[in-house]
Amino acid sequence: MTYDLVIAGGSVLDPAEGLDGRYDVGVRDGRIADIGAGLDQAGAPVFDAGGLLVVPGLVDGHAHVYPGVTAMGAWPDGICPNGGVTTVVDGGSAGTDAFPGFLRRVVAGSRTRVLCHLNLSRAGLTREAGELRPGLVDPDGVSAALREHPEVAVGIKLRLSQRFTGGPCLPMLRLGAKVAAETDRPLHVHIGATVESPAEFLPLLSAGDIVTHYQTPRPHGLLDEHGALLPAVRRARERGVLFDCGHGMTHFSFRVAEALLAQGFPPDTISSDVSARSFPELRPGLLTVMNKWLALGLTPAEVIRAATSRPAAALGLDKGAGRLQVGGVADVAVLAWEEGAFAYGDAEGARRETGRRWRPVATVRAGRLHRIGPCECGKAARG
Ligand SMILES: [Zn+2]
Repeated sequence: MTYDLVIAGGSVLDPAEGLDGRYDVGVRDGRIADIGAGLDQAGAPVFDAGGLLVVPGLVDGHAHVYPGVTAMGAWPDGICPNGGVTTVVDGGSAGTDAFPGFLRRVVAGSRTRVLCHLNLSRAGLTREAGELRPGLVDPDGVSAALREHPEVAVGIKLRLSQRFTGGPCLPMLRLGAKVAAETDRPLHVHIGATVESPAEFLPLLSAGDIVTHYQTPRPHGLLDEHGALLPAVRRARERGVLFDCGHGMTHFSFRVAEALLAQGFPPDTISSDVSARSFPELRPGLLTVMNKWLALGLTPAEVIRAATSRPAAALGLDKGAGRLQVGGVADVAVLAWEEGAFAYGDAEGARRETGRRWRPVATVRAGRLHRIGPCECGKAARG
């Protein structure tokens, strides 16, 4: 039996599936048909992955991909395939008002798999600030949309910063938690510069809820004024609350990330929070954020897991998503190791240097191969 594609001879790495070795990956009908050494390549198109790393297609659990409706939105197919990302989750760009358009234009119009955390505000991110004010929140509408479109709307987004709530976040968080309980879907909450401290708002979160901007240097992050991890944060993790990177433009601090790692508190998931605004700096996107975590000392297996199987599980994706699994969807990223002198910056003007990083070489989405040229990994953020 022939394959539609064989990704041949790469170093296959998928810690969730226990894969770490030289294998071929055979693809048929958009699914992974076989993983093994010396697959029969007769009659099949072959992608030679010799010397390259073959990992599950990357899952970016926080990005902004609703262009034309929000000022910061980037087209998913403009930013994802050139960076190894096969699934992207929009972080609250759409509220209930613009969700029908998101389904028709963005989800249906993209080759990349697109999901969303639906904003608790009917306005979504169509305004720069103040979306979570009493007249704009729409818990009933969000609850209905989540039930009607569980295949796309995988959770509920709240930006808890004072700029977006106009005051304390606890009343809005209580409303969100009620919708989450009704729909059995997680909350995705943006922290940093909130009125209340994490000790006050984290107790409202449940197992499976996701806190993004884990390493934010802004007030009311996860550390106290002496740099120690807040006990409420550790308790939240023990209860099953997840902590996500959410790099963004103002939320990534090497200082905070290093303090969290030194206290035994790595992120559960790595996401980019990339938008049309941050893409020029972050291109090719999530992979740049993953390279920063490599520079911070996480192992390749830890970084891959945090950007593939972990977010897939947190999002409740179907079996095989975020993994290289026979029978699962053929979403694959092919990466090259680059050696040299590379420097990365952060939101506080700090820099870190590293001698190696990953470069995207090819992306396979549902069995379809996309080769990435050396100059292409940053093209067309706005589509
Ligand atoms: Zn965001």
